[in-house]
Amino acid sequence: MTEPVAAEVGRDFIRDIIQADLDQGKYREIVTRFPPEPNGYLHIGHAKSIALNFGIAQEFPGRCHLRFDDTNPVKEEQEYIDSIQADVRWLGFDWGKNLFFASDYFDRLYDWAEQLIRDGLAYVDDQTQEEIRVSRGTLTEPGKNSPFRDRSVEENLDLFRRMKAGEFPNGARVLRAKIDMAAGNINLRDPVLYRILHAHHPRTGTKWHIYPSYDYAHGQSDAIEGITHSICTLEFEDHRPLYDWFIEKLPVPSQPHQYEFARLNLTYTLLSKRVLTQLVRDGHVAGWDDPRMPTMAGMRRRGVPPAALREFVKRIGVAKANSVVDVGMLEFCIREELNRTSQRRMGVLRPLKVVIENYPEGQTEELEAINHPDDPSAGTRKITFGRELYIEQDDFMENPPKKFFRLSPGNEVRLRYAYFVKCTGVIKNDKGEVVELRCTYDPATKGGNAPDGRKVKATMHWLPAATSVPAEIRIYNQLFANPSPDASNFAADLNPNSLEILSDARIEASVAESNSTEPMQFERQGYFVRDKDSTPGKPVFSRTIGLRDTFAKEVAKG
Ligand code: ATP
Ligand code: MG
Repeated sequence: MTEPVAAEVGRDFIRDIIQADLDQGKYREIVTRFPPEPNGYLHIGHAKSIALNFGIAQEFPGRCHLRFDDTNPVKEEQEYIDSIQADVRWLGFDWGKNLFFASDYFDRLYDWAEQLIRDGLAYVDDQTQEEIRVSRGTLTEPGKNSPFRDRSVEENLDLFRRMKAGEFPNGARVLRAKIDMAAGNINLRDPVLYRILHAHHPRTGTKWHIYPSYDYAHGQSDAIEGITHSICTLEFEDHRPLYDWFIEKLPVPSQPHQYEFARLNLTYTLLSKRVLTQLVRDGHVAGWDDPRMPTMAGMRRRGVPPAALREFVKRIGVAKANSVVDVGMLEFCIREELNRTSQRRMGVLRPLKVVIENYPEGQTEELEAINHPDDPSAGTRKITFGRELYIEQDDFMENPPKKFFRLSPGNEVRLRYAYFVKCTGVIKNDKGEVVELRCTYDPATKGGNAPDGRKVKATMHWLPAATSVPAEIRIYNQLFANPSPDASNFAADLNPNSLEILSDARIEASVAESNSTEPMQFERQGYFVRDKDSTPGKPVFSRTIGLRDTFAKEVAKG
């Protein structure tokens, strides 16, 4: 019997390994962890890792820990610890009681380091950072033993304890594992376990003057927490022998295993925290939550629904080989989710005034508009029709080409939910630009259909001049103009047109009055969400995404 298709969705090599381990009775419970370093905000690459680790804990009997890898106090901040927790929750995952910090294990890690010294497996090296780097060798040349490699256990213990006590300046000494300076894998050439760092730590304050390296802290933290499957990205594949070396040499309480998967890369996007930090620090964006940032905070502010991100990472799957995903795939998932969930409203991005000459002065009427075409339960709302309206500047052409079916002199169109109107004249300013249209309406076409059966080729959105509300609308384009931006010189690849501000836009009064942060569709324009920069006098809306994939077409055109 074949499995139903649905059960195959979301299968990948890691889940296969876990299933096999469970089938063999190796574990009663699967324990994974998501281990961010609190040195920046989370981005969409992290969303992939979060969905994988927390997803596994939901699908199999098990749990997923949130563990902060807070071993480098120079770069880490409480702001990041807080934002990371908010972002994981926003994405829809919950670590329950299982919130941990590598810094909680500093005492144990220190004791184990002393044990490595006593076992002749670690030594204090007085060489400078540069000397250590040079003597490490290359891929083709073995490294050279440090002149301090054969210190006695007593001398090593004494020096290490004095490092801990804060007797030496930053960089004066390090503790290294004593493995093999000729190992083919450079990670095994006496890696650094501890460095001297006189820095204030967000959690341990000034208690420590030495801090463990990622390699030394990570696997042992996994072992302390009983992690069964330690899932990380491919760049750590060459670190796995070292991971296993520590687990073998130390009296750790459990035996975790490391597995590697391909990190997410996206076109037009850089996901390195170094780059993202610099974008913020150098003012290329308005902060970590700038809607152009690939951070979860940026995407949340931009109105991207978390369900769209979950769907995206599900669709891209988990593979062993690195690849680059087209950002259009992410946009597709966002559009799909918003199309399903968001209410329809009207907004005019670049207003052009229209006066309906045969509509009585001072008269208005309420027309009914539907809130969601596929969801009757979303109900309807009233919009006010009157003599003075706004339409989109783009929807009018004085001298239209053949296939332009929208408004032009003499041409008739439908105004959504309202009437057929016909353009009878234009008013221009001194520069010859059209600033106002004169139209007539056909009272017999109320609701948008003609009793005589005549057709129009265009339906346009509009707003009443009197009761619509001025708003600022922000349109975002890709932050980088280059499909594969250069991380080492990213400033050169920034898109100078990534933000377009439309300060004279107009929106329905109901949209302006509501403080909802739910994205909505402005018909024919895309999905928009209220931004936190809104003031009582002037609402600000961000475009989450346009309706159609004009971006892919622009790229194709070159
Ligand atoms: P850097 O940008 O300096 O490489 P990082 O993104 O690896 O930093 P961490 O805080 O160490 O920062 O990441 C936490 C976890 O998220 C790690 O397990 C890491 O492998 C995973 N991760 C990071 N970037 C991606 C990505 N692009 N795709 C999938 N997983 C990722
Ligand atoms: Mg990392």
